[in-house]
Amino acid sequence: MREIYPYGMLGNMPTKISLYIHIPFCRHRCAYCDFNTYAGQENLIPAYLKALQAEIEQVAAKLRFSFEIGTIFLGGGTPSYLPVEGLQEILDTCRKAFCISEDCEISLEANPGTVNRDGLSQLRRAGFNRISMGMQSANINELRLLEREHDPIAVIHAAESARLAGFKNLNLDLIFGIPGQTMDTWKQSIHFALGLKPDHLSLYALTIEHGTPFKRWVERGFISSPDDDLAADQYEYACQVLEEAGFDHYEISNWALKSNNQSMVCLHNLQYWRYQPYIGVGAGAHGFLENHRTINVRGIKAYIDRMMLAMEMPYPASSAADQVIELDLWTQMQEKMMVGLRLLKEGVEADPFAQKFGFEMEEVFGERISKLTGQGLLEWTGSSNQRRLRLTRRAWLLGNRVFREFVGLPEPAVLRKKIHSTTTRVP
Ligand code: SF4
Repeated sequence: MREIYPYGMLGNMPTKISLYIHIPFCRHRCAYCDFNTYAGQENLIPAYLKALQAEIEQVAAKLRFSFEIGTIFLGGGTPSYLPVEGLQEILDTCRKAFCISEDCEISLEANPGTVNRDGLSQLRRAGFNRISMGMQSANINELRLLEREHDPIAVIHAAESARLAGFKNLNLDLIFGIPGQTMDTWKQSIHFALGLKPDHLSLYALTIEHGTPFKRWVERGFISSPDDDLAADQYEYACQVLEEAGFDHYEISNWALKSNNQSMVCLHNLQYWRYQPYIGVGAGAHGFLENHRTINVRGIKAYIDRMMLAMEMPYPASSAADQVIELDLWTQMQEKMMVGLRLLKEGVEADPFAQKFGFEMEEVFGERISKLTGQGLLEWTGSSNQRRLRLTRRAWLLGNRVFREFVGLPEPAVLRKKIHSTTTRVP
């Protein structure tokens, strides 16, 4: 199988798996955020770090297959809010517990207001080699509305400090569709970000999530709902400008530069989009291993208590698991389409799909594929032995509509063996 980007599967054998580590602490909870993160629980940080250490060791001892960790991603929350020594300890624990590949991508999510040059240098020396900064906007009013704690100057300092500390792989996150954001302020944010010379950009449309202050503000009329037409224009503008700036638009929301002939794609997220296995540790973290999805308890205290109790859980879950879901073949095929079609060039490759699941894509999704190709939303591309199904250019803005077509479908008759998903809810 030819790889468009480095790292992935060799034949059917995953040689590398990924490790996600969740850090659920933030100094302040932003008004639009519905991530599993908490403010005001700093007193739990030392116990949380110990629990994380215990979970990493437990998972490493439990897994029954041989693997190498190809990417590590510390996400949150705000991982950079933790003391540098704590982050170093987590990596040390990983190194002792797992076999880490030499070229392992080790990413840290950081908020611009929480980093400084010394701390970043220490993190670089500890082994972190990719940093992802939540810039979100270059407009101070938009940052205030989002309740972000930094200003644009802090982003400049953070990006410069990261470079001086030796980070060669820098991502910036930006948000479009913010209430009150105009095309002009969006353009300013994009150009401000480009001026910082990132290797990678992630641009997300704001969604108003239930239970957030943003949701209440919209309901009470304090702020307007995101304007879908404007958001579409903002996305199109970004596609055009980033292409001109030499970025490869490889996933719906992600763009990467090439550096020394190497694409700076996020290898960790590629693992998810390629439907490859990963371990998830920490409060609320999800894992995907040997056809099982593991979902940990969400609360920080509950997570710490679970790891202290060290209860035996069904394979491959750790003591922190709240659910262990065995995914049947049909569920896996649908999920594969959902995540794989996010990759704009790579899409879902026909031969590896058939090798992995034992069915041709057209055998199980024939009707859907015909419908969506007929509507001009999906297209076949590639030579006969490397055929791939992917979104058409006009479907980039309609991704969710296409993905929904591959969810909750009745099992096709061709699936001879009926293996249904079973969920084990842990008491
Ligand atoms: S910093 Fe990020 S994770 Fe923390 S509250 Fe804000 S948006 Fe959520």
